[in-house]
Amino acid sequence: MTTTAIVTGAARGIGATVARRLASDGLAVAVIDLDEAACKPVVEQIEAAGGRAIAIGADVSDEAAVDAAVERVVAELGAPTVLVNNAGVIRDNLLFRMSADDWDIVMNVHLRGSFLMSRAAQKYMTAAGFGRIVNLSSTSALGNRGQANYSAAKAGLQGFTKTLALELGKFGVTVNAIAPGFIETEMTAATAERMGVSFEDFKAAAAAQIPVARTGVPDDIAHAVAFFAGRDAGFVSGQVLYVAGGPTT
Ligand code: NAP
Repeated sequence: MTTTAIVTGAARGIGATVARRLASDGLAVAVIDLDEAACKPVVEQIEAAGGRAIAIGADVSDEAAVDAAVERVVAELGAPTVLVNNAGVIRDNLLFRMSADDWDIVMNVHLRGSFLMSRAAQKYMTAAGFGRIVNLSSTSALGNRGQANYSAAKAGLQGFTKTLALELGKFGVTVNAIAPGFIETEMTAATAERMGVSFEDFKAAAAAQIPVARTGVPDDIAHAVAFFAGRDAGFVSGQVLYVAGGPTT
């Protein structure tokens, strides 16, 4: 029986790489992002490699859109038993310049989005007696200048992860979080642009602070997701794995 996975924010960056990795591990994958058309290239790459995937446009912070998206997954791919809550946005600013809208959107996408997706997907996992939820936190959960909204959301996801692990464990569902450090994606490229430095200089400065002396790539995160999503990881739950090239403080 094929396992069905949902990956949110999967049109690009970490989510796209996670979707391709889970497909190459044999899972059918629902590639969800705001714009359905933007998901299609990822679906085509998965299909070209012999995998199975569908593209779905949905805003993870929209309750009706989330419920409809999960129903489509059930109808077109089968009941989902793996969920990767990866969709994310940044709206960085120092506290005194941060607007309430910038606070709200970051909370809505990361926290409300992960809540709505998990609530919609868990009923299929508990019915199956098997499930894997992986939430994308961040090293910013430990505090990061200019990211009061994002660091609060990413720390919130760690509490969310531990609580779901407590509630869902007896149904065979594990819930874990991955907290990446600096990963080369459009998100970090946008941060470099906002700070007025080239992406190459920004990466070099970050790498100089990272014990393994390089910045991360989406495959580094996909590898950790594949571990948590695997059937053999059933005794690992409620954990936060920092994937940051070194210890975090
Ligand atoms: P990215 O390149 O910006 O990709 C994020 C994706 O999420 C985009 O395709 C975006 O769509 C989508 N998205 C945004 N809001 C959404 C919504 N409401 N509903 C559905 N999809 C939505 O980011 P990334 O770097 O791959 O990051 C992926 C995850 O890892 C995020 O949760 C991020 O916070 C986390 N993370 C990243 C890093 C890093 O260094 N890159 C470090 C730690 C944690 P649009 O393009 O249409 O906005």
